[in-house]
Amino acid sequence: MGVMGDSVRFIGSGDSFGSGGRFQTCILGSLGGKRFLIDCGASSLIAMRAQGIDPNSIDAILLTHMHGDHCAGVPFVLVDAMLGAKRTTPLVVAGPAGTRESMEVLREALFPGSRMMRPKFPYEYVELSARKAQDVAGITVTPYPALHTPETSPTMLRVACGGKTVTYTGDTDWTEDLIAAADGADLLIAECYFYDKPIKMHMNYATLKKHLPRLHAKSVVLTHMSEDMLRRVAEIPERCASDGMVIEL
Ligand SMILES: [Zn+2]
Ligand SMILES: [Zn+2]
Repeated sequence: MGVMGDSVRFIGSGDSFGSGGRFQTCILGSLGGKRFLIDCGASSLIAMRAQGIDPNSIDAILLTHMHGDHCAGVPFVLVDAMLGAKRTTPLVVAGPAGTRESMEVLREALFPGSRMMRPKFPYEYVELSARKAQDVAGITVTPYPALHTPETSPTMLRVACGGKTVTYTGDTDWTEDLIAAADGADLLIAECYFYDKPIKMHMNYATLKKHLPRLHAKSVVLTHMSEDMLRRVAEIPERCASDGMVIEL
């Protein structure tokens, strides 16, 4: 059973290009007393401050892939934790193979010299293997391969804690692995980039709609929408994310 207060908040529901004036992908899960971010796009620290979310309250950051609109907020959160927020509690950053290297290179590119800084709190990277349930700071995370730019090590994430499960597609074209990733989940967060325009390595609404009956999640919410998709939000029956939206589970 989930505990009172289990929820998902869309700190950022946007795409890479600022469509709709939305913040880049950043989803706050509060499950079973744990708090984690699923993805942390470049704008995420700003979005957290705008919504009154204390970055020091986050136990883990779980990354789907290495595109900047999903992971480039990590160096900002880390440098803030060391300098501004004076964090003392542990922080884990988990993602696909190569996460540690990518995050360290990105941090040094954005904040040259920051490599020399040592966090005063326990800071750890965890690199996850596909289709394997792994413990990250008390949260069970299972990545599934996604169909997206291969250089980004793309994954979908199934995240379980306190008896509740949330699945996020990350960025991906339709892939049969989503059936297992979403099976029985309390909430499926699905990328929905365009309405019916086929676009390589991303999901559109027509494709998702076609496969929805095969996805056995208890509820679904669409996110990562382009201007094209945002114009259609009023005419589709599925729930669509917006910045600051909270879904109780
Ligand atoms: Zn993206
Ligand atoms: Zn991407």
